[in-house]
Amino acid sequence: MLFRQLARPRSLRSARSLSDAAHKKCWSCGATNDASSLFCKADDCGRIQDVDAKSVNYFRMFDLPKSSFNIDLKELETQFKNMQKLLHPDKFATKSISEKNFSSSASSMVNQAYQVLRSPMDRVNYILMSRFNINILDETSMTIKDPVLMNEMFILRETASEITTKEEMSSFIADRHRELKRLGAILDGLMDKYDEAERQQPAADPVLAARFKLKEEIQETAVRMKYLSKVVMEMEKRLDELS
Ligand SMILES: [Zn+2]
Repeated sequence: MLFRQLARPRSLRSARSLSDAAHKKCWSCGATNDASSLFCKADDCGRIQDVDAKSVNYFRMFDLPKSSFNIDLKELETQFKNMQKLLHPDKFATKSISEKNFSSSASSMVNQAYQVLRSPMDRVNYILMSRFNINILDETSMTIKDPVLMNEMFILRETASEITTKEEMSSFIADRHRELKRLGAILDGLMDKYDEAERQQPAADPVLAARFKLKEEIQETAVRMKYLSKVVMEMEKRLDELS
């Protein structure tokens, strides 16, 4: 009984894999769908769903296998364009008022989700927010505490400020994107380990301690990625202005 109480209710978990996802019944045919599915998956139904913004996971909305930093951006774009087509108002011209409403809120959710997932900084923040409710973009609580990282970012900004040509800017951006990808792989690996530790219920003390440490590492990596992304965004803006 005690173990049951210790375990968090399933609905509160922001599970990362499809198998653990929250579910919802289709209003039309009653089939059970992932709560992030915009359309009913039943073959003979396929109708637009009344999706609750609070229970949606952006990664699952785009049928991406799980919440990870290193996603296939081409695949994301393809999915986004497909959904835009499926949600086009013309497709709902002859449907009921409710379906028209469902589709227009789904459409704004899709746009919002796409903007978040395509930006490295917002993507990292979304992963931490949806998993741990940690907002790394909140400057008041998320200032750099690590002097090594602070120094590194200072040097990086210095280097960036000395760059003047388009070629140097492009190569600076490419290098930083590679670094983000490397850190993203570390972050994804840490998240997998965290999930594994969480699965080991009931949580024994060493497991809890390991989780606490992993969470700290996840947060540190994410904050580093945030600062790196900022430098990249500033450089991309400068390059844009020159072009
Ligand atoms: Zn259905």
